[in-house]
Amino acid sequence: MSTVVLARKYRPRNFAQMVGQEHVVTALTHALTQNRLHHAYLFTGTRGIGKTTVSRILAKSLNCTGPDGSGGITATPCGECQACREIDADRYIDYIELDAASNRSIDEIRDLIERAAYKPGIGRFKVFMIDEAHQLTKDAFNALLKTLEEPPEYLKFVLATTDPEKMLPTVLSRCLQFNLRPMAPDTVRGYLAQVLAAEGVAHDEASLRLLGRAARGSMRDGLSLTDQAIAYGGGKLEESVVRSMLGSVERGRARELVTALAARDGAAVLALVDALRQRGQSASGTLDELAGLLQQAAVEQVAPGTLEAGDPEADEARAVAPLLAPDETQLLYSMALHGRAELALMPDEHAALAMVLLRFLAFPSEAAAHEGRSAPLRAPAPPTSRSVVAPIRPAAPSPSPAAPANGGGLVGAGSAAAIVTAAVSVPSAAAAPTPTPPSAAGVPRALGDRWCALVLSLIERGGVTALVRELAWSSALVAIDEGSTPPTWRLVVEREALRQGALSDRLAAAMAAVVGGAVRLELVPGTPEDSPARRDAAERARRQAEAEATIQGDPVVRELLATFKGARIVPGSIKPI
Ligand SMILES: [Zn+2]
Repeated sequence: MSTVVLARKYRPRNFAQMVGQEHVVTALTHALTQNRLHHAYLFTGTRGIGKTTVSRILAKSLNCTGPDGSGGITATPCGECQACREIDADRYIDYIELDAASNRSIDEIRDLIERAAYKPGIGRFKVFMIDEAHQLTKDAFNALLKTLEEPPEYLKFVLATTDPEKMLPTVLSRCLQFNLRPMAPDTVRGYLAQVLAAEGVAHDEASLRLLGRAARGSMRDGLSLTDQAIAYGGGKLEESVVRSMLGSVERGRARELVTALAARDGAAVLALVDALRQRGQSASGTLDELAGLLQQAAVEQVAPGTLEAGDPEADEARAVAPLLAPDETQLLYSMALHGRAELALMPDEHAALAMVLLRFLAFPSEAAAHEGRSAPLRAPAPPTSRSVVAPIRPAAPSPSPAAPANGGGLVGAGSAAAIVTAAVSVPSAAAAPTPTPPSAAGVPRALGDRWCALVLSLIERGGVTALVRELAWSSALVAIDEGSTPPTWRLVVEREALRQGALSDRLAAAMAAVVGGAVRLELVPGTPEDSPARRDAAERARRQAEAEATIQGDPVVRELLATFKGARIVPGSIKPI
């Protein structure tokens, strides 16, 4: 294989060879064939996607004279004439590339403008290409403006930038703008397959998938990585070698992580992270693979059957899709994506990875939302009595035996050991009315009642899940403006992450079905004094205190404590049922 690097060898020499930028190619081809030429072009897009390449092809199109020297402006430059050959070789005197990242001052631009005063030396047009044009200083921009506005007829400008937002509006308005798009992994993969076939390099499909993804939309990066992988693999591409070079994690490992997270198995998550560390697999590679897997799983969830058949990675996605609710998939995807930025903040990137993953477990699962959380706030049951099992541990005179593995909580000491359970009667929530917590900054308690009832109804209907449920559960209703259309409900929400338009829209939509009409939600920052979450916590605390008082005052328990010298109630063992 050639020693010329692939990115240079396979740089497109004409529009037909450009991959993935058909919209730009079509527009420029029409302009050239119909001779409707603008005097200034702006190419935008991320690095490595072909801005300079398009500029060079455009310069050739404008200056090509054809193989016999008789050609004119063309959308299909010949590749043989002086202009074509010298522009390709980067030595054509009428094509000037200026990198504004390193030549950004007014002096460099003045120099360029002076050169613009002279007609082309050999070509039809002078083409000035200013790369990373957003880096020019304001003075340099202003100096350029007049020439850009009324250039001599033989002068064409091409500006390229990765950051068009930073360009002066006066410059933008004088340019015909084209946005080059990042290439899809499949586009890169397909092109790499052609290049490798032309080079006669043996490769497997999985290697191409990995390289296609690792290119992150840039064909130049895709080709550079392929060069490295060929050198790394001794002239051929194999999945294991490419994976090791890229530091990427196998899809199967990502599936194991999602499976453990879906099962809310924190210990398994930590063990998997530890295994990744032991194998030397990078934390960022893990999050990349996780995001890729979840993206495909989300596709499978909303459009089953659309993932590519026979793609082993799609098989993994199909396997995890049923494990998560769609919004949980979105949540975990978002955490994987944004977690990458956090990895560098910790000295131990695997510890940071564990934190990113464990954050998912801090959100209530689907099941918890329907059962555990809402239970204490359900409508009061008819008056009844409930039993509380109170484990009591008599004090051990000698080294205390370990608590039984079944967690029974009540063990005797030595030969006198006797397992005793105390069943006592505790009034239900209905029998003892819930004490009213103090209201927030004058907000009527009735609003809190209405909000709690509504949120419980939404949860019981399954109308809100994951983050939307979290928003409803942790916020407090402080005002309803019935005068607006639709009525505006103002919620105080503490966590900024929950104050999102998308979440409030989903909550408002779910509420509309319950309240019988459209509502608008206004989320305001603050401390929610009377949220369903707070009421739930207060209710739990009340029931706990009640159960403890009941046990402490129970005659049987009192007698046990009196009989067994030093016996005590194991702290924390009393649980209301
Ligand atoms: Zn030519």
